[in-house]
Amino acid sequence: MNSNFPNLLKPLDLGFTTLRNRVLMGSMHTGLEEVKNGYKRMAAYFELRAKGGVGLIVTGGIAPNFRGWVAPFSSKLTSKRIARKHRLITEAVHKYDTKICMQILHAGRYGYHPFNVSASNIKSPIAKFKTKALSESSIQSTINDFVRCSKLAKYAGYDGVEIMGSEGYLINQFIVKRTNRRNDKWGGSYQNRIKFPLEIVRRIREELGKEFIIIFRLSMLDLVEGGSTWEEVVQLAKELEKVGVNIINTGIGWHESRIPTIATMVPRGAFSWVTKRMMGEVDIPLITTNRINTPEIAEKVLADGHADMVSMARPFLADPEFVNKAIENKSEEINTCIACNQACLDHAFKGKVASCLVNPLACHETEIILKKISKVKSIVVVGAGPAGLAYATTAAKRGHKVTLIEKSNSIGGQFNMAKKIPGKEEFHETLRYFQVMLEKYKVDIKLNTTFNSSMANQYDKVILATGIIPRKPKITGIDHPKVVGYIDVLNNKVNIGSSVALIGAGGIGFDVAEYLSHKGESTSLKTSLFMKEWGVDMNFLSRGGIEGIKPDISKPERKIYLLQRKNGKVGAGLGKTTGWIHRFSLRNKEVKMINNVEYNKIDDKGLHYTRNKKEFVLEVDHVVICAGQLSNNSIFESSKMVNNNTEIIGGAFLASELDAKKAIDQAVRSAANV
Ligand code: FAD
Ligand code: NAP
Ligand code: SF4
Repeated sequence: MNSNFPNLLKPLDLGFTTLRNRVLMGSMHTGLEEVKNGYKRMAAYFELRAKGGVGLIVTGGIAPNFRGWVAPFSSKLTSKRIARKHRLITEAVHKYDTKICMQILHAGRYGYHPFNVSASNIKSPIAKFKTKALSESSIQSTINDFVRCSKLAKYAGYDGVEIMGSEGYLINQFIVKRTNRRNDKWGGSYQNRIKFPLEIVRRIREELGKEFIIIFRLSMLDLVEGGSTWEEVVQLAKELEKVGVNIINTGIGWHESRIPTIATMVPRGAFSWVTKRMMGEVDIPLITTNRINTPEIAEKVLADGHADMVSMARPFLADPEFVNKAIENKSEEINTCIACNQACLDHAFKGKVASCLVNPLACHETEIILKKISKVKSIVVVGAGPAGLAYATTAAKRGHKVTLIEKSNSIGGQFNMAKKIPGKEEFHETLRYFQVMLEKYKVDIKLNTTFNSSMANQYDKVILATGIIPRKPKITGIDHPKVVGYIDVLNNKVNIGSSVALIGAGGIGFDVAEYLSHKGESTSLKTSLFMKEWGVDMNFLSRGGIEGIKPDISKPERKIYLLQRKNGKVGAGLGKTTGWIHRFSLRNKEVKMINNVEYNKIDDKGLHYTRNKKEFVLEVDHVVICAGQLSNNSIFESSKMVNNNTEIIGGAFLASELDAKKAIDQAVRSAANV
């Protein structure tokens, strides 16, 4: 078969070993490292990705000693006893032609514990605990710990290690002046500051021999003040090659950087230009990364000469079969990572086991099992939002006869609004995936059909996934012509004026504010626009790629006020790893966020409210209601009467705190057992 992805699927010869293709499953902390039966669960998780065709896997970060922990008692590799547990993973992966490297990560001052250490005692702006500068003898013992950890990785059966030298972790803290103020031989000049990573690699190569993969994750673009210049990055890459690194992987941005690097509003492949600058500077293969989520974009990056290999991490949570589907030229069947971070990074940062919004099976491979069925049931699913789609496709995949009834003229439910928000274009992909799966598993789709209880008795089982209805708050003047609902706004049913107040600052309030403040092309679709908006210097003439660069923000389309009754930070309930981006972005667009309000009335003048016992009026053209939602389950009672075998899922089941992650998770778990 002629491949659509010849560059991506080409083997990569490293001299002593060959990778079967140019796909790296990048390092992700899943939280499985720390749970009961974690190694068994990790083995199942990685095995599925190896079976799915990945050429090279890098594990989540493992600390070389306890001071390097990311959080208290997070995983470290310091003994043969622990190494033997890792064999479950390496043996599972090696059943296939896939190589696996263990990432060694010393968190340095990012360690969320009081034992953390760094190059100097400068606390990170995002850290809770103070940090302590390593003494000269502790630097030597830390290097020894990296070497011991590599030896143990080899003993555990890994094909190599990845040394984490980016994202602002310990090694990065040594490299740049921002965090390294030492005046001994490990600080001062650049040559001194890079001694720490070079010594680590030199010693590992010396002790582990030639036939052991060493990947170095090099921070090519720090995106922080006081980061490296491009010339410094190139110098380090060349010296890393000399001391024995086999592959250089690209690191983009420190955790404390205020530039989004992987969230959904970042354009696809937005940072591959950074790796491209390094092409030709060294003779070893280079890996590029960040927001590469389809085989098409991965192929283009390679065909355009931006790198020798592509790293994707979250796309393998979304679809373990990614590579095999690319091999079979079936990329339309790939469940695409939409870069929402909701079930992966947000979970990891909260200490919860990661999963995936679009694929709840991820990291739960031993728990949610889609068994073939013994008796075919005839199932009707009512509502083609995320919950209904996930249920219908899962049950049909297992062999049930499924009918999907949707009252509107398209599948997708609220995702049809989400995908219209500038920066959320990826949500189209989930609907494309579900459409392909509905066809593949022969679900009988009935659009423009409103379900009523009299239809229920034709089926063995009724699944109500009828979603929500927006809440209409009890405010005097709520029926005033100035007042509109978010659905009408997003469906372009109203022309919103030049000033607007939004009642409710949850996920939808923020999205509507983004939608209404926006003018022209979405910056998420064009790398140059995105970099300009966030102040990234694509010529890389400034330190860290940002120093001295002012964001170039277009004038907002209208004046927007975003209000909530709670007294806390506006948008506090947004995602842990993305909330700051939404707040930052709206502030840049001069959206005024007001908390602690009591709504008094809406009239011809505008929105009247009280704050701290003072009365205010926002003289706005429109007031948009984004005040949460209620379950749309009025047909439930009657259908239950007709057919006792009725189940209710998604927003129809519970509207408060509902999101697509919960809706899809509930649907898949339920359909796995029907
Ligand atoms: P819905 O999506 O509401 O789907 C219900 C479906 O049932 C609809 O298609 C409706 O037409 C149909 N229906 C209703 N009654 C009947 C009937 N009697 N007969 C036939 N069909 C019927 N969530 C996230 O997790 N992350 C996000 O980033 C995110 N962004 C969002 C942005 C916006 C602008 C909006 C509006 C929502 C967003 N959400 C997000 C929320 C997410 O979309 C919802 O949580 C999710 O859609 C709920 O899924 P559901 O299937 O339960 O309901
Ligand atoms: P939400 O997050 O629950 O927010 C509802 C907002 O309305 C809150 O700001 C609340 O704040 C306010 N509110 C509630 N009752 C009110 C009342 N009676 N009168 C006035 N204001 C009231 O719900 P949502 O914004 O509708 O979003 C729905 C779901 O979709 C959420 O679960 C959300 O997580 C999900 N979603 C997620 C994203 C994302 O990017 N992850 C984006 C969009 C939607 P006060 O009570 O303080 O006023
Ligand atoms: Fe991608 Fe969202 Fe799944 Fe994370 S949760 S892997 S970002 S789709």
